[in-house]
Amino acid sequence: MLLKVEDLSVNYGVIHAVKSVNFEVNEGEIVSLIGANGAGKTTILKTISGLMKPADGKIIYEGKEIQKEKSQNIVAGGISQVPEGRHIFPGLSVMENLQMGAFLRKDRDALKKDYDNVFDRFPVLGERKNQDAATLSGGEQQMLAMGRALMAKPKLLLMDEPSMGLAPIFINEIFDIIQAIQKQGTTILLIEQNASKALSIADRGYVLATGSIVLTGTGQELLANADVQKAYLGG
Ligand code: ATP
Repeated sequence: MLLKVEDLSVNYGVIHAVKSVNFEVNEGEIVSLIGANGAGKTTILKTISGLMKPADGKIIYEGKEIQKEKSQNIVAGGISQVPEGRHIFPGLSVMENLQMGAFLRKDRDALKKDYDNVFDRFPVLGERKNQDAATLSGGEQQMLAMGRALMAKPKLLLMDEPSMGLAPIFINEIFDIIQAIQKQGTTILLIEQNASKALSIADRGYVLATGSIVLTGTGQELLANADVQKAYLGG
């Protein structure tokens, strides 16, 4: 097991956004967390990456509790997040954005190979290396955000709504790339409102409703579940 979330509760003042949530991610898996707007998905990811502190509960990564760690230590430990809305750095070039992803790496000698890997996986980023990242299209910015996260060489990649706002053709490409990243050995925790895509590539999934997990199963089991179909798959 790579990540175990135990009885996690997270509040914004009086708002209980995440209520005693339990789930786990095994090494090599894609695990999808689905749920409606406001279910608490982003809050869970932010808490794993150390941007928020829980009111209660534990986050155990590689056997160690990390819920009190600073986010830079969490990144250095191998957890990297592709944030919702991409948050690329405008005014910096594509290359400089990728360099920001590698900022905490100590193994400088290996960097060249990893830039080449990113450019192989996302050829458009290689073609636009010197271009201001703000001038990329939405789909290209999503690829840059994924490339930047991969430059941190994560063991666990946290992805927040990678399909949001993208044209269908880009959505398929992004999900193909997520599977390719898994095949190369990176474990992925994916949160998505696009439940059908997220479950179709998931080894396992969890359904979150108003801060609590209400259902779990393999991706295929959840896709076939009548409640999931009614609530999240349009019938
Ligand atoms: P979405 O898919 O819309 O991004 P989500 O499942 O990621 O939703 P969260 O963003 O985690 O949900 O929000 C969970 C709950 O916490 C919501 O009720 C939201 O209104 C509330 N919340 C989120 N951020 C804050 C904040 N900074 N201050 C107060 N409440 C917040």
